[in-house]
Amino acid sequence: MIVMKGECSQKEINEVVEVIKNWGLDAHLSQGEEHTVIGIVGDTRKVQREYFLHVQGIERIIPISRPYKIASREFIPQSSSFPLDGVEMGGEGVVIMAGPCAVESRSQIMETAQAVLEAGGHALRGGAFKPRTSPYSFQGLGEEGLEYLAEAREKTGLPIVTEAMSPEQVPLVAKYADVLQIGARNMQNFALLHAAGEAMKPVLLKRGMSATVEELLMAAEYILSHGNRQVMLCERGIRTFETSTRNTTDINAIPVLKEQTHLPVVLDPSHSTGNWRYVTAIARAGIAAGADGLIVEVHPRPQEAVSDGGQSITPERFQEMIQQVCMISEAVGRSIAPSKVGKA
Ligand code: PEP
Ligand code: MN
Repeated sequence: MIVMKGECSQKEINEVVEVIKNWGLDAHLSQGEEHTVIGIVGDTRKVQREYFLHVQGIERIIPISRPYKIASREFIPQSSSFPLDGVEMGGEGVVIMAGPCAVESRSQIMETAQAVLEAGGHALRGGAFKPRTSPYSFQGLGEEGLEYLAEAREKTGLPIVTEAMSPEQVPLVAKYADVLQIGARNMQNFALLHAAGEAMKPVLLKRGMSATVEELLMAAEYILSHGNRQVMLCERGIRTFETSTRNTTDINAIPVLKEQTHLPVVLDPSHSTGNWRYVTAIARAGIAAGADGLIVEVHPRPQEAVSDGGQSITPERFQEMIQQVCMISEAVGRSIAPSKVGKA
């Protein structure tokens, strides 16, 4: 990481970038208020340190100790944020994404979208391509599902979060989605991470159920290294010896991630508990722990859901959840991002 002097010229910055590229390495610029920082990414054994001794505009050279670079707070100390159709992800306001596990029908997604909007949600989630444990389970409506999501966005103004499961699916999903979701089972699908990095759309990257925080950050680094800086990380529960809930919410991961990376962090209390009864409590805990947002499964009739009905909350419970999360947000010096009601 090269920290340029406050008064250095653009020409000097360009020269340093040029030299880094000539070594076959990538240069990532981070323009701070006082300093420009140039991150060198790649096989840094190729760096000829002596060269930099002769550049006037360089203040200092700091090795980044973490294996991930662009994702690290060492490289970008300030929390990053990006717009999600009018709301800021990673800003002061807590962002709430909600919707069914899967898009099941036109009427189901339209009804849910309306309920999410009215309760104060900021984005609509729903899978059109579903990563199911069994090949015999419902696999999603595919492009038809994406069309219904787009129609729901049209009607409500809520941006769409939906999953792509393979690199080949990325262009199609990106055509409809506002946020590309990468599921837990695909966190280390490196070809998919490359494709998401090239898509230039916000990405919601879910932590693998057996992945460490560092592995999650390395996965994010794949996306970031393509120049896509709009990445949010999602804690969705990990596998432990405990069987009383589907997964164990690693609440620790939230402050750990907030410390180690500048990327926004969201919590999925639905998959992390697997039981609608615990969703609100864990949503509160996530915001208290410092999460920037939530992604929650909401279904108008959970008992009829084709997938994850047992962990889906009704629109009424979702509304209560938001009220409670609102109180917690205020207790920790934040607020809920402005509602989109009336803005469609
Ligand atoms: C989902 O969001 O519906 C999903 C399949 O999540 P995960 O990848 O975390 O299991
Ligand atoms: Mn689900």
